[in-house]
Amino acid sequence: MTTRRAIPAVGRILDALGHFPLPRPLITNLVRQHLAVLRKSESVPSFDEIIRNLHAALDDLALTKLQPVINGTGIVLHTNLGRAPLGVSAAESLGAIAQQYNNLEFDLPSGERGYRAQYLEQCLALLCEAEAAMVVNNCAAALVLILRHFTRRKRQVIISRGELVQIGGGFRIPDILEASGAQLREVGTTNRTTLADYREAIGPETALILRVHRSNFAMSGFVESVKAEELVELARKKRLPLVEDLGSGAVVATEQWPQVDHEPTPAETLRGGVHLVCFSGDKLLGGPQSGIIAGQARHVAALKREPFFRALRCDKLILAALQTTVEHYLVGEAEAAVPILTQMRATPNELTARAEKIIAQLRGWAVPPVIGPGRSQLGGGTLPGSALESVTLDFVLKSADDFARRLRRGKPPVIGYRAGGKFKLDLRTVLPAQDDFLIAALQAVASAGGP
Ligand SMILES: *Cc1c(COP(=O)(O)O)cnc(C)c1O
Repeated sequence: MTTRRAIPAVGRILDALGHFPLPRPLITNLVRQHLAVLRKSESVPSFDEIIRNLHAALDDLALTKLQPVINGTGIVLHTNLGRAPLGVSAAESLGAIAQQYNNLEFDLPSGERGYRAQYLEQCLALLCEAEAAMVVNNCAAALVLILRHFTRRKRQVIISRGELVQIGGGFRIPDILEASGAQLREVGTTNRTTLADYREAIGPETALILRVHRSNFAMSGFVESVKAEELVELARKKRLPLVEDLGSGAVVATEQWPQVDHEPTPAETLRGGVHLVCFSGDKLLGGPQSGIIAGQARHVAALKREPFFRALRCDKLILAALQTTVEHYLVGEAEAAVPILTQMRATPNELTARAEKIIAQLRGWAVPPVIGPGRSQLGGGTLPGSALESVTLDFVLKSADDFARRLRRGKPPVIGYRAGGKFKLDLRTVLPAQDDFLIAALQAVASAGGP
């Protein structure tokens, strides 16, 4: 029988690990956990191997830290990659508010207590052509607040089966409804809902009619849904509030972008007679994570009086970034100042010019990348039927998996995708200011053994 190697002491391991750019308690904790596993295992590896394994585990731990990445996926609003990046001035306003006292709830004209987001709400109302607007944490929070408010006395919410959607990981409209205490009354079928379906479902327990914009999937073929104006008329006759969850909340005409469908705006939806709309601040609006509710003033005022609103309200940093983003729209500067709008406008020619410049700066590649075609998507549960012609850097590799892994571990990490046996980086979603960082990250992989 071979004797089992002794488990090394924590102190000796920490010395051998040397400096690592993570807080010491995290490193010690990781070492202790690692040793606890070794104590239970059959055999103990050599000291050098333990150190190697710990280095790899520390590298992985450091990569889990929230940090900037380069998005080469071609998905403009990638929920896993933080959705919309903020513009320079939105980020600056956030920084300024973060580092100083501010008038969050102080009314400077009177010197008395003021109201949070007063100015922003006015800007949002103008942008949405609504009587009033308010802001909460995200669109899911907006829905919860609306549902809780309207289903206090009567519980039933009418919604078409075709709109019971799942948006991204774990966000399901039916679950939100139930979590809010509302009772779901589904009408129609997945592909067909008629006005009669709605009409027949309305009863004494009906509190609200909810429409959900199907922003993350497209349905075609034998599809029938009720026209907005018919539903507005029905809600009016039955004296029921009609709420629409727009999800992505485009306030610009998205059909101006080639190959992109029209996305209903809050203004046109409200003009059509819907009482309240809600949408995300960090999707097509291009702001920070937030949820915006806009519509009839009496409903917005009642929602703001809900005690639960307190639990959903936004922090001053979010309000600062959103305020600057919304002002960009109001002064007509959004196309230049809101990054996702700039990305959507980039033409294949502009992207090709950037690709050529990047390739020209790569040195010592046996097989340099070539320029290829790409299809960018809005993603993030937005405009499913739309894909924009784009430009990619295409890498032909022995192991695309290994290359992708090394780029993810780069400084900064770079995320791409695989298609047709190639590894691709879509330049539409790489922010132009990141081109030099992308070159450096690619160069680092090349000099560490090449792609
Ligand atoms: C994205 C989306 C949501 C969720 O928005 P969050 O801001 O992420 O909470 C809700 N409804 C629809 C229709 C969406 O597209």
